[in-house]
Amino acid sequence: MMKHRDLIFLAVPLSVLVLVAVAIGLLVHQFRAFERAYVQDARETLVQDTRFVAQVISPDLAAGRLPAIQETFAFFRGKPLRFTLVAPDGKVAADSDADAGALSNHADRPEIRDVASDDDFVTRYSVTMNAWLLYHAMSLEDGWVLRASLPAEAVGAAISQARLAVLLALCAGLALALALALYLFLRVRPHFNALQASAVAVARGRLDTPIGVPADGPLRELAKAVAVMARQLRNRIDELRRERDDFDTLFNTLREPLLLVAPNGDILRSNRAAAKLFGEAVARPGFRIERTACPDLIAYVRAAFDEPTLHGREIPFDDGGTPRALLAHAVRMEREGALCVLILLTDLTDLRRLESFRSDFVANVSHEIKTPLAAILSTVETLTDIPLDDAGRRRCLDILARQARRLNDLVQDILSLAAIERRQTSGARDFHDLRLDSLAADALALVQDDAERAGVRLLADPDPLPPVTVRGDAHLLEQTLVNLLSNALRHSGSPTVTLGLKVEDGAALLSVADHGCGIAAEHLPRLFERFYRVHADRSRENGGTGLGLAIVKHVALLHHGSVDVRSTPGQGSVFTLRLPLP
Ligand code: ADP
Repeated sequence: MMKHRDLIFLAVPLSVLVLVAVAIGLLVHQFRAFERAYVQDARETLVQDTRFVAQVISPDLAAGRLPAIQETFAFFRGKPLRFTLVAPDGKVAADSDADAGALSNHADRPEIRDVASDDDFVTRYSVTMNAWLLYHAMSLEDGWVLRASLPAEAVGAAISQARLAVLLALCAGLALALALALYLFLRVRPHFNALQASAVAVARGRLDTPIGVPADGPLRELAKAVAVMARQLRNRIDELRRERDDFDTLFNTLREPLLLVAPNGDILRSNRAAAKLFGEAVARPGFRIERTACPDLIAYVRAAFDEPTLHGREIPFDDGGTPRALLAHAVRMEREGALCVLILLTDLTDLRRLESFRSDFVANVSHEIKTPLAAILSTVETLTDIPLDDAGRRRCLDILARQARRLNDLVQDILSLAAIERRQTSGARDFHDLRLDSLAADALALVQDDAERAGVRLLADPDPLPPVTVRGDAHLLEQTLVNLLSNALRHSGSPTVTLGLKVEDGAALLSVADHGCGIAAEHLPRLFERFYRVHADRSRENGGTGLGLAIVKHVALLHHGSVDVRSTPGQGSVFTLRLPLP
């Protein structure tokens, strides 16, 4: 059975057939007109010739000279026109083509029987398949009838010829139509099918489908155009894909959560930061803004749909973890004809924490300064107002010196902390290769006097310390070790303090261990915060600023390392500084 797409190959032969049919119609019409005109012409000729012959034979008929009439008729012998003279009784008196005597009685011939009297003419013709007969009878005087007949072969032949021409035209048309169909079918169909299959494959998204271009033929240009179209489509899609990937990367690498919200509250798009904040479900289709469980955000999104110029708004967000402060900004945008709102959320939590941290720090510093300053002022007052003996004056000067040292230590620690933080944020490390073993020995030497005064034995583990090289700042690392060692000396009450050095998992581990009072577990998480002290008064008495461990932590971070503490109350503490090896 012929496939639907093959019908296209019938178009040309069908058009030819239609043309042939129209031509045949026209020919048939022409043929009819020709037939009518031809017969009409023959009739008129017949009538005129009959009249003429009637006139010619009229004197002979009046005189009864039948042989003379026969002679006149003889003139028409062998000619297409035939004349017959029929007597009133129907006998044939003379005939131009036949022997009159041999002819049967003509009274019953239709043209004789129906002939009208005088000048009335009756014409009749009959047509059979191959013979046309055209008669005209004219009544003469006294019941005589002159009949003329025209052999119909001439008319018939002309009409048959016309029919033959029509038949031939039909056959030729059909043959042409079939030949064209066959040509198209055999020549074009394979190319057409291949092109169609490729075009369908391209339409279905297989854009790298090769498009075969025929070397010639009617489909060549079409196939070339389809190939160009497919290539352009592929390039365009590649370009769009690249743009989309770039956009996705950009969208997802943004640290600020982004939400594109539809008017019904559906979240149409979200980035990774948003998924981190609201959970992975936010990216699933049909997730509504209401499900963020953040009433302020929901209200802000609604307001953004109502107000074209909405300002940013700070939104508290609490998902059960750390309470966060978000700054929401709305951008209204059209998407597929609908108004949508793009919400950009900036996390202000760290900023707010930093702000409160700063104000806490200022409060802490003021508090730390207040006590030594008050002591200095009152001592100065005593010195100026009260007359003191030498011993009293010396006591006052001792107080002044101690408080001034305390203030100086505080300022020094604040400045070093600020300097370390600056280096941390600027990224300018300026590190050198250094030997931790010699640095540790230096630190031990620096606190040796204090240790002796406190009656504490300083030990190295192992002794001697192994040679370990790291990249870092020697001065800061030495200060760190001194801080840890002097903490152990001042706070622990341990008879020995051990400084350890070893290499483990690609890092150098420096440890300061004591067997003193230890630190209760609840203090450990906050131990490295600024001004955090386990026993505030004792620390101050011991000359501590409360910044020693904060400095240790920041030096460790500056060196991409870490510091931790393990402690058991009553048994002692171990502070470990971990520094990555180069
Ligand atoms: P401080 O200037 O008071 O020494 P630090 O930041 O160095 O400040 O230490 C914080 C607090 O941690 C100290 O006040 C002290 O209470 C406690 N601490 C530090 N090291 C030890 C230790 N080895 N044993 C017991 N407590 C310690």
